[in-house]
Amino acid sequence: MSVGASFLLQVNQSFDRAARFTDHDPTLLASIKTCKNIFYTSFPIKRDDGSIEVIHAWRAEHSHHKLPTKGGIRYAPDVDSEEVQALAALMTYKCSLVDVPFGGAKGGIRINAKKYSPAELERITRRYVFELVRKNFIGPGLDVPAPDVGTGGREMAWIADTYMQLRPGEIDGLACVTAKPVSQGGIQGRVEATGRGVFYGVREVCGIAEDMKSLGLSTGLDGKRVVIQGLGNVGYHAARFFQQSGAVLVSLAESEGAIANPKGLDLEQVMSYRREHRSIVGFPGATNLQRREDALEVECDILIPAALERQIGEENAPKVKAKMVVEAANGPTTFEADQILAQRGIPVIPDAYINAGGVTVSYFEWVKNLGHVRFGRMQKRFEQGAYGRLLQAVEEVAGRRFTKAETERLTRGAGEEDLVNSGLEETMTTAYHPIREVWKKHRGAIDLRTAALIVAIDKVAVSYEELGIFP
Ligand code: NAD
Repeated sequence: MSVGASFLLQVNQSFDRAARFTDHDPTLLASIKTCKNIFYTSFPIKRDDGSIEVIHAWRAEHSHHKLPTKGGIRYAPDVDSEEVQALAALMTYKCSLVDVPFGGAKGGIRINAKKYSPAELERITRRYVFELVRKNFIGPGLDVPAPDVGTGGREMAWIADTYMQLRPGEIDGLACVTAKPVSQGGIQGRVEATGRGVFYGVREVCGIAEDMKSLGLSTGLDGKRVVIQGLGNVGYHAARFFQQSGAVLVSLAESEGAIANPKGLDLEQVMSYRREHRSIVGFPGATNLQRREDALEVECDILIPAALERQIGEENAPKVKAKMVVEAANGPTTFEADQILAQRGIPVIPDAYINAGGVTVSYFEWVKNLGHVRFGRMQKRFEQGAYGRLLQAVEEVAGRRFTKAETERLTRGAGEEDLVNSGLEETMTTAYHPIREVWKKHRGAIDLRTAALIVAIDKVAVSYEELGIFP
């Protein structure tokens, strides 16, 4: 079985396990579970040396109960149809958990992005978009991609540019893709949104005294020992926010190896060492672990896989020494590992909830593009003026003047980044509680993933039921 097929099986097994706790019509449940559209294409690309290579690419739209569909595009050597279907399904559940009005989708191109020049990647990306446009698999109201493994703002800018060239005059064209560079219609705060969302979510989980007590942990993040696998977009930013909040990074893993230091690793120093030596291995003051996977077995409070799917399986789940696992990556824990961790009393904060920060801020970007106005542009100065007048009144009553620094701090109006971060914090903080309530209601009979999927299934089912298709 391919990695993608096992991943799809894993996602569907989790769905089935959760579906048993709902009372929806079995046909409706089967309909929700199934991927609605799968697009495959192959096209030839000229390499820089003049040779021709055939590229294979997919886009899966899992659910159309809300439109557009939404999900990243990954460039990785083992992408296949099943992998994008699994990831697209996760997107449906994720969007529903954080009340983002999209169906789930995911795309992938089967290449190792590191082996192609920027010019080759641009040709591949633009041709992929051309094929998506031809089949109506992209558009502000149809299907809106974003980055995933191996892609980032640069690829999103190429996607937007190609789309706009093929659809001249489409006034909302920029909303065809999110996580664009800010100068190309992107939004402040999107780059770090997934990592920041992981941080907000874990902070909320760790703030509940009753749950922390049962794990033998204190509340709050200060002093928590954290291990992070993968220092890409998600892992790096998550690590940054955890460190800023007083957590201690006791082990870090990248594709070339893993390092550990129980006293803590300085993230920026590790990153700068990696830039210089093209590896984190050998970082002064840290122990090099024998294998990169060994980081997953380092003793810690919070283990954050933030690289790829299927990293914690049957073999290493019994050796995990974390108090909780936080799925910053999509699908890092296999179905079997889930059960082992549950038996061992190690909660897994599921991907569909904890890494939803990216799609949340992508939603804000999409709204911004459709509104054609930057968030905060209309009200920032008005707020400043109103707060200023309020301060003046306070000064008159109190009989003392605020300093210039105090006045600036107290009268600042909200800019785009403030509003984005506030919306993200609100989303990640509130979305955890319905999941926890379902989990508590079942008193230990289910894990948090099952609870999250029950919440997601219920919300998606309502959309179908209200259409009157199912009883
Ligand atoms: P990325 O390509 O920026 O980073 C992945 C990192 O993991 C890379 O630095 C890579 O070298 C490293 N890596 C690969 N294999 C590894 C291994 N075996 N051990 C340790 N490190 C390894 O990708 P990303 O965007 O950060 O995505 C990471 C995960 O988060 C994926 O599962 C993705 O689907 C998920 N995710 C991403 C976003 C987003 O906004 N980018 C949103 C939600 C979920």
